[in-house]
Amino acid sequence: MKHPKAPDSALRQDFLRQLQKLWPAIKGSLAQVRKPCIRPNCPACARGDKHPAFILSFTDKGRRRCMYVPAELVPQLRQALSNGKALEAFLYQLGPELLRQHRQRRDAPTPE
Ligand SMILES: [Zn+2]
Repeated sequence: MKHPKAPDSALRQDFLRQLQKLWPAIKGSLAQVRKPCIRPNCPACARGDKHPAFILSFTDKGRRRCMYVPAELVPQLRQALSNGKALEAFLYQLGPELLRQHRQRRDAPTPE
């Protein structure tokens, strides 16, 4: 036992390690849309094809919002969304883990 007096320390260290690994992490969803441009006589817009663009949708104080995403940022945002899911899954595991550790500590024989 490395931390006999602070049983949470190992879990805490693991938590901080996970956070470090999961940067950047975001919540939301990324969608590809087609938007018209402002160029006059644009052939793509005239055809109705318009231009592919990405939007990030997210919730801000309970309100659904979205922002356009520059194409070069799309790979990083995809990774961040994936990290956000992994972080959420990790947080869900943490509650039961804290309870397990508490029980182990409580039920452990007290050292003489
Ligand atoms: Zn256009």
